[in-house]
Amino acid sequence: MFSNQSVITETLPAISVRGIVPLPNNEIRLDVSKVENQKAIKSALDKNKYIVLLVNNKPNDDKDFHEVGIVAKIVYNMDATPIHKLKVIGITRCKILDYLQTNPYYVVQFVTMPAESDDINEEIASVRLLVEELDCSGQRLLIKNPELIGKITSGVTADVLTDLLAYHLPLDFNAKLKYLETPNIGKRLTYMLKDIQREKQIQEIEAEIESKVKKTISENQKEYYLREKLRVIQDELGDKAKKETEIDELREKILAKKMPKQMEEKALQELNRYASLSSVSGENAIVRTYLDFIISLPWSNESVDTNDIKKAKDQLDKDHYGLDKVKDRILEYLAVRIMTGKNPQAILCLVGPPGVGKTSLARSIAKALNKQFVKQSLGGVKDESEIRGHRRTYLGALPGRILQGMKRAGTINPLFLLDEIDKLSSDYRGDPASALLEVLDAEQNKYFSDHYLEEPYDLSKVFFVTTANYLENIPAPLRDRLEIVQLSSYTEFEKFEIARRHLIPKQLQNHGLNEEMFSLSDDALMDIIRSYTKEAGVRELERNIGTLIRRAIKSILMNKDDKVEIDKNNLVKWLGKPKYSYHRADKLNQIGVATGLAYTQYGGDTLPIEVTYYKGEGRVVLTGKLGDVMKESAQAALSYVKANAEKLNIPLNLFKENDIHIHVPEGAVPKDGPSAGVAIATAITSAFSNRSIDHKVGMTGEITLRGRVLPIGGLREKAIAAHRSGLTKIIIPKENLKDLEEIPVSVLEELEIISVENVEDVLNNALI
Ligand code: ADP
Repeated sequence: MFSNQSVITETLPAISVRGIVPLPNNEIRLDVSKVENQKAIKSALDKNKYIVLLVNNKPNDDKDFHEVGIVAKIVYNMDATPIHKLKVIGITRCKILDYLQTNPYYVVQFVTMPAESDDINEEIASVRLLVEELDCSGQRLLIKNPELIGKITSGVTADVLTDLLAYHLPLDFNAKLKYLETPNIGKRLTYMLKDIQREKQIQEIEAEIESKVKKTISENQKEYYLREKLRVIQDELGDKAKKETEIDELREKILAKKMPKQMEEKALQELNRYASLSSVSGENAIVRTYLDFIISLPWSNESVDTNDIKKAKDQLDKDHYGLDKVKDRILEYLAVRIMTGKNPQAILCLVGPPGVGKTSLARSIAKALNKQFVKQSLGGVKDESEIRGHRRTYLGALPGRILQGMKRAGTINPLFLLDEIDKLSSDYRGDPASALLEVLDAEQNKYFSDHYLEEPYDLSKVFFVTTANYLENIPAPLRDRLEIVQLSSYTEFEKFEIARRHLIPKQLQNHGLNEEMFSLSDDALMDIIRSYTKEAGVRELERNIGTLIRRAIKSILMNKDDKVEIDKNNLVKWLGKPKYSYHRADKLNQIGVATGLAYTQYGGDTLPIEVTYYKGEGRVVLTGKLGDVMKESAQAALSYVKANAEKLNIPLNLFKENDIHIHVPEGAVPKDGPSAGVAIATAITSAFSNRSIDHKVGMTGEITLRGRVLPIGGLREKAIAAHRSGLTKIIIPKENLKDLEEIPVSVLEELEIISVENVEDVLNNALI
């Protein structure tokens, strides 16, 4: 009834369509949800199936319709709730003349607008152009609609062609409206040519942009990917090649060490682990350090001992002046070792003040026996792990000091000096002394366990020697295992000889100076010993000599001197002001001043003790930095004098009516020790009985309340000090007579020794 050729005015039910622009010659599918539209469709189906499609001017205003719509024929309807599926075929454009009814659905009066054709030739030309355009770009434009392509290629009229293209091309809403409003085919063709061209351009630009974007992204990705790959390859190749040779080398080294089987297996196992680790992993370095440590430890390398006791004696004599008894003890010990062919059960321990030659004796022993020498100080070791090491799971784990020493030694049978074992202390981190016991015990040290190493290490061939400053401070269980050899302080004379024979030549050699260029006179050397050093050993002395030599070298180089000669007169210029002054014996006999003898860590010294009294109520004042023991000594001495006042010709009321002051001057040095009793008693008696004391007499000894004189320690040091300070007589406890042999002959020759049993004897010898 309707066609795209004839003009008809008619009335039909109408539905509104939104978002699309319906055109004739197209199959149009619609989802219909509005009830009024569904009713209109029903009414149309009831009649001739023709219906008008109205186009909303604006997508969201469903009352404002475009004046042109189309007449369409329903070919399919499905009444699914709530949406009806509808398929229609567009027949012809139509102009809406009137809305006859709007409720319950639209009924419109319209006039159809058939397609108009002006110039058929022009149309043909346009179609050709259009087809050409479509040929080059249409494929692209229409690619999504193969059905349409099929229709077009099977041949259609210009009218149908434009309607089909206009309906399907991705043009915007307003562009499409243009085609709805235009029945003229020629015009529609022109529009279409323009639109396709524009669309083509847009598509081209889009494609260009897209490809550009794609290109930059993929280029970046490609570069990144290639670089990453390159790095990994380089890493792999370099690392592998490096590691392979490295691992071969390490394996060779491990095998060359001839470790015990178990250790070797463990080492190779660790090596395998190392090989599998990447060089950037944290564990890599840890395993490597461990392997290096195992390799650096001696496992089978052994030096050949010289078992020649004569040679040992020569070496000890050559390196050390004096120390005859000490050397004898050491040689006895070595003799046993040589005879039995193994290390004695007891460990040699050299005990004595600093600087008396303990380390250097040990070094000589090593030299004499042709052993490597290592020294490890244990001073301040509190933690067991310093001896035994840390487990490798600790961050920064280290092997213990024993194995570190073994590494330095490089042989399995060195002389290992454990220095200052009296300075070991224990706390909550375990007892280092018991770990040390295991080290020293010949039964156990074959399988010494170090936490770091994890496998037993054999220390049984190591010759351990220990040193200590104070015997009393060595932990008791350790002391039981030691063969103690005591060294004591040197006399001035011994120091002098040691300096002449050993220290000066040694220092000259160390500094590259010869004896023609440097001389130190005897009295200058003695001055250094007396006024620049205060020590039991010779360390400070050695240091002072070193200083002199360095200053001499400087002077020789700067002033072009041939020789530096140092004597008593220019010593101050070279070494600065003297640092110490020893107490010198008083020049005159005095009342209330006695000279005690003290044993300090620097050796011995004399100790003046002063007593005076003044009006008071019998109080006792003690001054001079006295320790508790010394205060008690003073009290005991006072009680003795009071108790024996009558015998000593002292009026008793003197004690009641006076305060007594006991003072021990001489610097701010703390003084303690029990051996000042006799000196205090003598000073008190002198003060109260008004008798003066012989200024050339020194005395030492503790007293009981009943006046017995008890023995003391350090007689040798005290005698040396007395001699040095110019005393000629010393009073000593009788029980100490046995120690006289320790006193150097040079001292004994010039000192009168008086041994006493009680205070009375002391007073008889000291008071004038
Ligand atoms: P210690 O270990 O007892 O503290 P050292 O062995 O370090 O003392 O001795 C300090 C310095 O004194 C060393 O240079 C040492 O050679 C030297 N020395 C000590 N005693 C003597 C001695 N009797 N003969 C020669 N040199 C000595």
